[in-house]
Amino acid sequence: MSTTTHGHQFINGSYRVGGGKTVERINPATGESDGSIDYASLADLNDAVNAAAAAFPGWSKLTPGARSDHLLNFARELGARSRELAELETRQCGKTIRMSTEFDVPGTLDNITFFAGAARHLTGLAAGDYAGNSTSMIRREAIGVIGSISPWNYPLQMAAWKILPAIAAGNTIVLKPSELTPGTSLIFAEAAHAAGIPAGVINIVVGAGADIGEALVRHPLVVMSSFTGSTAVGRHIMAMAAETGKRVHLELGGKAPLVVFKDADVEAAAHGAVAGSTINAGQDCTAATRAYVHVSLFDAFTTRVAELMDSMILGDPTDPNTDMGSLISYPHREKITAMVDRARAAGATVLAGGRAPDHPGAFYRPTLITSAAQDSEIVQAEVFGPVLVALPFETEDEAITLANDTPFGLAASAWTRDVNLAMRVAAEIQAGCVWINEHIPIVSEMPHGGYKASGFGKDMSAYSFEEYTNIKHVLISHDTDAHKQWQNTVFR
Ligand code: NAD
Repeated sequence: MSTTTHGHQFINGSYRVGGGKTVERINPATGESDGSIDYASLADLNDAVNAAAAAFPGWSKLTPGARSDHLLNFARELGARSRELAELETRQCGKTIRMSTEFDVPGTLDNITFFAGAARHLTGLAAGDYAGNSTSMIRREAIGVIGSISPWNYPLQMAAWKILPAIAAGNTIVLKPSELTPGTSLIFAEAAHAAGIPAGVINIVVGAGADIGEALVRHPLVVMSSFTGSTAVGRHIMAMAAETGKRVHLELGGKAPLVVFKDADVEAAAHGAVAGSTINAGQDCTAATRAYVHVSLFDAFTTRVAELMDSMILGDPTDPNTDMGSLISYPHREKITAMVDRARAAGATVLAGGRAPDHPGAFYRPTLITSAAQDSEIVQAEVFGPVLVALPFETEDEAITLANDTPFGLAASAWTRDVNLAMRVAAEIQAGCVWINEHIPIVSEMPHGGYKASGFGKDMSAYSFEEYTNIKHVLISHDTDAHKQWQNTVFR
């Protein structure tokens, strides 16, 4: 991959060739070789963490306004590389150029300007005064070097979501992006440095999770692990972090329900279900994966969803007319194919898709499945592909019970015109986000994070500062005598 001719590590303000192995990359949409990636050695990782530790005192002591100015410059610098970023994102992921151009790149730029503003509002609630003789205040302090690990589905946006709140709050960071898609994270760090963000504030190390990822979590100078990825790896990271009591922030898998009540606009719900289940070829942690549809609408809904899915154009992701690009890799397609085949074998009906198209690349047709059992693998486990299961329900209680009946709790949607019903469902569904008559929208102001096996802590929004700051209470006494009196009363 020709992200850079200078290597695939960005450490202390410059590129270097990693001292680990070199791995060939495959373009998932063509199946052809796309150059190679050099992996970091443990010495490279150590250099990156040391650079972040050395940069921390200076960066954390800048005023919020100065950090904000840096981020605004960065947004301009990165914005000038929008086309390059979109093309690279499409090439490394197989996602459509429409998606990269209209969602990934603008979303990332908006995130930078959002955190440039948010950096200046790092406030906290003050504790009450003591007996009128003191003033309490809250300091929000950066915590140190953050070790962050991100997945391959939205490489650029995931890098942004991890890096921006951390550095806006005054921390420094070492990010290990997915080894499948490091290119745009590297450009992100390079542009930040070119815009004047000091060397060492953002470092990118590329390598496999089991060695470089684990070493980053365990590094003694890393004070917090911030992770987006699968639930299994997130739990492993939490166990590693527990050995030394490090803070963790986990954004994990999802299995979002989309609940269509009997008064819903069925056409809108069908469109929402198709958009929500096929976005990014279904490789989205908030993708609609389980449609629970009132029995009176079930046939109309499934017929329309199947029609819309069958009409989707799959193919060259660089063609603006393409609706859905490829999956991330051939092994990932094999995993999805096997899950759909097992559902079929267990008696489920495939109403649309359920197969790969007959052209090269790791593509899989948008798939609609019915008649699956609620406790079956296809309903309970994360597929992370363009696969929607539709099941009927009769009562509101039943719909909510079914919607909550998986280990996950990242996002959900409900489709109804009844505002009372919408509010009841929003309260009852166990997920970090509930959309009403929508599925998927997310912008920088909206907190994103899970319940249950989907993790904890928030990305995006001002809430994300909770993860990346310590809150310190400072009490200033105005009256030494009164203070002594209180001490005498309590401690004598
Ligand atoms: P993954 O867990 O396999 O890998 C994610 C990252 O972890 C990669 O960088 C990988 O190299 C690293 N890793 C793997 N093993 C590791 C280990 N032992 N120690 C340290 N790091 C390790 O996930 P993926 O396949 O890249 O991404 C898909 C998953 O991510 C899905 O489960 C999806 O739901 C989830 N995801 C969640 C969100 C969210 O916001 N909740 C967003 C995007 C993706």
